Amino acid sequence: MTTNILKVEDLSVAYGGIKAVKGASLEVNEGELVTLIGANGAGKTTTLKAITGTLPNCKVSGHITYLGQALKGQSSFNLVQQKLAMVPEGRGVFTRMSIHENLLMGAYTSDDKQQIAQDIEHWFTVFPRLKERASQMAGTLSGGEQQMLAMARALMSHPKLLLLDEPSMGLSPIMVEKIFEVIRTVSAQGITILLVEQNAKLALEAAHRGYVMESGLITMTGNAKEMLNDPRVKAAYLGEA
Ligand code: ATP
Repeated sequence: MTTNILKVEDLSVAYGGIKAVKGASLEVNEGELVTLIGANGAGKTTTLKAITGTLPNCKVSGHITYLGQALKGQSSFNLVQQKLAMVPEGRGVFTRMSIHENLLMGAYTSDDKQQIAQDIEHWFTVFPRLKERASQMAGTLSGGEQQMLAMARALMSHPKLLLLDEPSMGLSPIMVEKIFEVIRTVSAQGITILLVEQNAKLALEAAHRGYVMESGLITMTGNAKEMLNDPRVKAAYLGEA
């Protein structure tokens, strides 16, 4: 039986007169890696912010259900407690703290020191670059390493759903490949992921299912591998005629 983790129904968001999302619906089931792709300004980040309740003052309508419960007006503490973790665009690591300290912050709702130590060791096996640099200040890491740290920190909270907003943004092609490699590894460990990406090719190659967002609307959805072969996706997002 598939367990529904997240259901977004008929979501609309308007910033003043600008309608950023216009009745979008999507869902994520347990264990899935689902990607939301689309051009700049399509409304992807706004959708994620609506899920986490971190939108600025604007008009929101629709229903968001997470683990069977309506989600509305979440505080970040509540989100961690509900095992919903978000890695925002720009990563947001604590630059004046070491990698190790950042990871401890990711587990701040737990006081089980042994479990925390085990979790850090576990995520170090997935992100060996972080292990090599455990005592290094996060602010001195490369963009890709900071992205890995932000993901590992989010994973320290044992999320039931991990939201990733443009993890490849601003990274070199080699680092982008590495980031997608770890996203696949994390997904293979059973973590449910909603991935927002502009890099449609890599996102669809990694994902089980995909959604295309255009001007605030979901215009296409399906099996990610089939979407990779869809002529409309090829023409609009993969640079293939
Ligand atoms: P990107 O990849 O560039 O982040 P996106 O698909 O994530 O794009 P959003 O960031 O959700 O798109 O933006 C959707 C629309 O909403 C855009 O037209 C954007 O200018 C507008 N928008 C986003 N945030 C705000 C805000 N705080 N105030 C006003 N308009 C906003």
